[in-house]
Amino acid sequence: MALDTETLTHLIDTVRRFVDERLIPVEPRVEEENAIPPEIVREMRELGLFGLSIPEAHGGLGLSMAEEVEIAFALGRASPCFRSLIGTNNGIGSQGIIIDGTAEQKAEWLPRLASGEVVGSFALTEPDVGSDAAAVALSARSEGESYVLNGTKRYITNAPIAGLFTVMARTDPSVRGAKGVSAFLVPSGTPGLIVSKPDRKMGQRGTLTADVMFDDCRVPASAIIGGVPGRGFATAMKVLDRGRLHIAAICCAAASRLLDESLAYARERKQFGQPIAEFQLIQAMLAESRTELYAGTSMVRDAARERDAGQAVTLESSCCKLFCSEMVGRVADRAVQIHGGAGYMADYPVERFYRDVRLFRLYEGTSQIQQLIIAREMLKES
Ligand SMILES: Cc1cc2nc3c(=O)[nH]c(=O)nc-3n(C[C@H](O)[C@H](O)[C@H](O)COP(=O)(O)OP(=O)(O)OC[C@H]3O[C@@H](n4cnc5c(N)ncnc54)[C@H](O)[C@@H]3O)c2cc1C
Repeated sequence: MALDTETLTHLIDTVRRFVDERLIPVEPRVEEENAIPPEIVREMRELGLFGLSIPEAHGGLGLSMAEEVEIAFALGRASPCFRSLIGTNNGIGSQGIIIDGTAEQKAEWLPRLASGEVVGSFALTEPDVGSDAAAVALSARSEGESYVLNGTKRYITNAPIAGLFTVMARTDPSVRGAKGVSAFLVPSGTPGLIVSKPDRKMGQRGTLTADVMFDDCRVPASAIIGGVPGRGFATAMKVLDRGRLHIAAICCAAASRLLDESLAYARERKQFGQPIAEFQLIQAMLAESRTELYAGTSMVRDAARERDAGQAVTLESSCCKLFCSEMVGRVADRAVQIHGGAGYMADYPVERFYRDVRLFRLYEGTSQIQQLIIAREMLKES
């Protein structure tokens, strides 16, 4: 759906206010408790944030990519954990069902994902399967009308609170690589599905990741997305463009928050009898960050528009993910520098953001994997 300008502006303003008045004030509590307060989760549901990208027919807001990135620019100014809570429902946890799911799968899961009643998790990574994602080893053995899942998934975001797992598993052990892989919808509570205790991470407290083990976990054949085995990896690849643009927008939003914090501190902090903002070496850092943020924001908006116009944006999405995730790392580093010793102290948000944004260069394809995709697409084009 393309919203009319007034409705979109209203939605963005609402999210901005929510970020300023509700999310930013609870950031220290989330850091302390490693959990998002339940009342905030409820308010996020009421705002429709779990269903941004899910079609209206299934209970979501059905935003276009260009609209979704504008919401991400607003939402991502708060700690990335809030975005992570709704990230899977809007991204890889729902888009596979939207694109390739059967009518029954859409009817069963999309309204509950859109409302936030169910949190989705996407389980691809394994102890020995990371960047080489097509090497999925978790086995799904066919037994009559069911499949029996065995193996372990690693670092699965939202696993401890998930109601639905999209699990990539190998249905055909005789086929190496992507073609032998299927995507299964497995509800939490299915016997044989075990979520381990949450991982201890560098940052993004408030978002929980964990190992998910499958021990003779039996699911019906109808749990395969689209009902046809062997298409799971293709499904995952189809939704990645959207996910990468969303992450790139979140990186820009985090960079914008880091700049606001840096600017405010530089105006207030005095050394040598004047605010440090008046020193040209501090101004240079602010200006470099602002320039990079402008570049990132512009490329994300451009790629989102192209995707909405029906163009293939695999190369552009990877360019955005690569540039924006690296860019926010540099902006965070400068933000700590501008804060001096205070930037190393946990009392200041930049210390937390510095750790939080490190993840963006790692998941949904590392920077090296984005480089490989960009080069592959260039070679294809030439
Ligand atoms: C907090 C967190 C949350 C996550 N959430 C999820 C989730 O919800 N679901 C999920 O499925 N996964 C999730 N992941 C996993 C994440 O997607 C992987 O960690 C990531 O894809 C990298 O895989 P890896 O960790 O195995 O690193 P590896 O693949 O082992 O890579 C190690 C290094 O080698 C480099 N490298 C690998 N291959 C090449 C190559 N061909 N050329 C050049 N360099 C290469 C990488 O870039 C990296 O620098 C999460 C990870 C983290 C840390």
